[in-house]
Amino acid sequence: MEIYAMREFDGHELVVFGHNAGVGLHAVVAVHSTALGPAAGGCRMWPYPTTDAAVVDVLRLSRGMSYKNAMAGLPFGGGKAVIIGDSRQLKSPELFEAFGRFVDSLGGRYITAEDVGTTATDMESVRRATSFVSGLGRKPGDAGGDPGPKTALGVYLGIKAAVKFRLGRTDLSGVSVAVQGIGGVGYHLCRMLAADGAHLRVADVRPAAIERVCDELKALAVPVESVLSEDVDVFAPCALGAILNAQTIPHVGASIVAGAANNQLAEDKDGLALQHAGILYAPDYIINAGGIISVAREYQGATEAQVTAEIQAIPGRLTEIFERARRESRTTNAVADQMAQDRINASAQRLVA
Ligand code: NAD
Repeated sequence: MEIYAMREFDGHELVVFGHNAGVGLHAVVAVHSTALGPAAGGCRMWPYPTTDAAVVDVLRLSRGMSYKNAMAGLPFGGGKAVIIGDSRQLKSPELFEAFGRFVDSLGGRYITAEDVGTTATDMESVRRATSFVSGLGRKPGDAGGDPGPKTALGVYLGIKAAVKFRLGRTDLSGVSVAVQGIGGVGYHLCRMLAADGAHLRVADVRPAAIERVCDELKALAVPVESVLSEDVDVFAPCALGAILNAQTIPHVGASIVAGAANNQLAEDKDGLALQHAGILYAPDYIINAGGIISVAREYQGATEAQVTAEIQAIPGRLTEIFERARRESRTTNAVADQMAQDRINASAQRLVA
């Protein structure tokens, strides 16, 4: 693997491999940029088929965190960790403690937290070996705890902003939304949308998750295979990355795509395909920043009220991107990337000066 030549490498400051044979730890930490502060981003545990696949993923996610943190106005750079392995089989407190020692050895250049396949309990094990960790338990009123509901709040507010911009509607009553993935974020998002009178269509590979929202919120269950092509106002991807690609985009049935999943576009050029199809795309790392705002502010000892106030800024940020994209005839993802990169570059220049 020619790591420096890879498209995903993108000027990363640091890529480190961690190994502990005794507990079965194979981990990679990637630090994309510390221009805005120490790199913050979660630790994903996933059964990658190859180490190459893990490296590609951690690099993509790490750069995404640089952009997400910059655009959320957080004093943190971008980084990410992956642990290679099946979280249902390989997890142990010892493994996470060893991972904590690995994180600690980086001296604070990278701050970890939970992500797909890891939990707050796992982060408690990490904390036994390092203080460079967030996403732990918390006292009432303090920032932090499960980031899922915070992410959902930002996505809900972002959907409202997109609906206003694209459909000219100031409320969600009667607006139809297809939600893909009813997990930690999707469930809370559905509750907020339903409370506003939105009509929900939902899909998940877990039947129990679907039964719950159908019973509680009168959502309509639709097949996993066709949720993307439902004829609705909004498609909200809250499950998988790379869901928007050359194969799927011609089948998207909504005029707005706005959801929580990370890395929704398989490639940057897929943003152009969405624009050509007349679909308004809410850049994922802008709309789903509620979770990292919560985790980052927890690390700094802020209150929950401060976190909620910062999440309220997400719809305004999105509207600015939508307007600029329209004015400059560019894609929303290109506008967001440039705004994020400008913020990182400005800070890097201040550091050099
Ligand atoms: P989760 O694992 O709790 O939920 C994901 C749900 O998607 C599960 O219910 C799963 O069964 C379902 N799913 C998996 N494959 C599917 C498929 N093919 N079709 C339909 N459903 C499928 O994860 P989450 O915390 O809710 O996060 C959802 C997405 O949002 C992920 O992409 C995550 O990276 C991203 N995200 C989450 C947060 C957060 O705070 N949790 C923050 C930012 C981004």
